[in-house]
Amino acid sequence: MSQNPTRPSPVSTEVYEGVVQDLIEELGQLPGVGPKGAQRIAFYLLTADPQDVRKLAATLIEVVEKVKFCRTCNNVSEADECRICQDLRRDPSVICVVEEPKDVAAIEKIREYRGRYHVLGGAISPMDGIGPEDLKIAELMARLADDTITELILATDPNLEGEATATYLARLVKPIGLKVTRPASGLPVGGELEYADEVTLGRAFEGRRVLNV
Ligand SMILES: [Zn+2]
Repeated sequence: MSQNPTRPSPVSTEVYEGVVQDLIEELGQLPGVGPKGAQRIAFYLLTADPQDVRKLAATLIEVVEKVKFCRTCNNVSEADECRICQDLRRDPSVICVVEEPKDVAAIEKIREYRGRYHVLGGAISPMDGIGPEDLKIAELMARLADDTITELILATDPNLEGEATATYLARLVKPIGLKVTRPASGLPVGGELEYADEVTLGRAFEGRRVLNV
């Protein structure tokens, strides 16, 4: 980028010493934080009760060491298989496909859905260089070989990438002859599943429509 000679050169972002600067840089890597937010969080931590900060640090380490992804559905899990996959009371005939583990949490909150899940790990997005091979689609197809599964709910986000992913999956599984549904409209278009309120999400699930491709 060329600099305007009449204006002073921009202040370097490296203004703090050593470990404080490291902290700001690490925090700045987090999604949705940015340089200003990173500074704000860093100075909050510097003045917070050291006991609280230690607890936060311990939790971060614990989460890295303990939490893995379920070998069946790719949801976050403390064991090889998540609690939902292990729960024999859950309906094994329905799989709800979502983008991220946070979507599982959002759907679980409505307490209406009793089937299983499959977490793709994102959505197809050519702009971001994410293709079907980058998602847990082969793993989903392997699960669908089990003929106890009769319905696939495609609950990817109601935005461009989510819709494209749902259409792609619906076409891919068509030869299997499953009932393929998508939560009804009413979800905020262009948004993300996790931001829908529980009532809206509950209605969208109840009124899910068959996806014809
Ligand atoms: Zn699981």
